Amino acid sequence: MADRWHIEVDRDLCIGSGMCVGGAPEEFRLDAARQSHPVSPDREPSEEVLAAAESCPVEAISITRAATGEVVFPPEE
Ligand code: SF4
Repeated sequence: MADRWHIEVDRDLCIGSGMCVGGAPEEFRLDAARQSHPVSPDREPSEEVLAAAESCPVEAISITRAATGEVVFPPEE
């Protein structure tokens, strides 16, 4: 089975900067409270999603491998 990613946005961290939406408008949406949500929380790996996660100023976007839970982003110290 192809590798898949699970995308989450931590609502306690998200400050609604919109960087992720600006960088990946097909992948993230801001709700009325200016909280970001992944359009497809479970999906195939995507460079666009990874770049959006990297652009988040508060590292609110996390990516894990769906099958194993292994962290893809943010990189562990
Ligand atoms: S870039 Fe980060 S803080 Fe800004 S809206 Fe997206 S998840 Fe929230």
